[in-house]
Amino acid sequence: MGIDDLPQTAAATPIDQAASYAYGSAQELADVFAGKAPGHIYTRISGPTTLVLERRLAELEDSIGCIATSSGMAAITAVMMGLLRSGDEIVSAAGIFGGTISLFKNVLGRFGVKTTLVSAGDTEQFRQAITPATRVIFVETIGNPGMDVPDLSAIAELARAHRILFVVDSTLTSPALIRPKEFGADIVVHSTTKYINGHGTVIGGALIDTGRYDWSTGPFADVAALAKRAGRLAFLSHLRMLIYRDLGGCAAPGSSWLMLQGLETLTSRMRAHCDNALKIAELLRQHRSVGRVDYPGLQCSTYYPRVSKFFGGRGGGLLTLRLGSRERAFRFIDSLKTVRIATNLGETRTLVIHPASTIFHEYSADQRAELGVPDDLVRMALGIDEFDKLKQDVLQALDQVEKEKA
Ligand code: PLP
Repeated sequence: MGIDDLPQTAAATPIDQAASYAYGSAQELADVFAGKAPGHIYTRISGPTTLVLERRLAELEDSIGCIATSSGMAAITAVMMGLLRSGDEIVSAAGIFGGTISLFKNVLGRFGVKTTLVSAGDTEQFRQAITPATRVIFVETIGNPGMDVPDLSAIAELARAHRILFVVDSTLTSPALIRPKEFGADIVVHSTTKYINGHGTVIGGALIDTGRYDWSTGPFADVAALAKRAGRLAFLSHLRMLIYRDLGGCAAPGSSWLMLQGLETLTSRMRAHCDNALKIAELLRQHRSVGRVDYPGLQCSTYYPRVSKFFGGRGGGLLTLRLGSRERAFRFIDSLKTVRIATNLGETRTLVIHPASTIFHEYSADQRAELGVPDDLVRMALGIDEFDKLKQDVLQALDQVEKEKA
């Protein structure tokens, strides 16, 4: 027996860097296409490295299955395009990621899907916004940049009573802080670009079916029809063999591999992100130059009881502060020495951004006010940097803001 004949036993998951998968006969490939035999066909549909990531994420979320995508936006797009038709409605939390709001309003809006935005923290507003055409309720576990925490259990109950699908974007919390399934989520989405990758080296996303939604009786006719054959996996099969396949937002094998590597350290990194965010939030809150600090992990936050209930008391790695004017916000950002000015979050290093002039620059001042993005708002995405260095940097930048006034 030569070395080529020995079993391949790499201790880490290898990257299967291939576009397509070859078979020994025409019949074998035909059988895989027809679903009569298992197998990978083409990386736009599935592949071995991505499959490992999908299984791990499904397991972490205690769910029935996962599809990894090329980005967080691709995951949200696949869910919505897989279910909604013209005339359907979404009720969505405001104060969420600007790209998601744009997808709902500007892209899905072109196809006749209407989105109503409501205040994430106020369950009553969700109740009042529901109409007979509502098919999806969408929230983020912690709004980015709204920093509000919806009452997941109460909204889930509401959704269930109306046979509405409850979709929860858990990007800001990651599986290290919460399994949204435990509080009633039907579908969980992640931008894996953030904490799951954790190092700012790749873009990716994932959608997870928690198994709570009964597809066989819901208003989604094509998935209900498929449920007769595919059972609980109807939605994931519908996506895999039609929507995900045809939209083309697949995960690349190398990206999936980087996500797998990130998952290895997710829990300990997340702890460090949360610790830094809490300590910086406390420091900012007591500083005379800062008007307001929003961080749900602060015990004085109105959202702290929900943070305790849903996330085990940890408020994530993101916070916002208000400095009184755009000029003061810019001055603070420009004075930071070790913190980077960039749009991501969930990286090992701390990042800072002025949301109104960047992520939300396309919106008018009135729209930004409605979305909870005032002009003096600064968003900090705490990394896992050494706290004392961070503290020093933040304090000297705040000193610069005050000097400007003098
Ligand atoms: N969801 C949230 C909460 C986000 O913050 C982002 C991006 O910032 C997305 C989704 C979109 O993810 P991606 O940039 O990976 O497409």
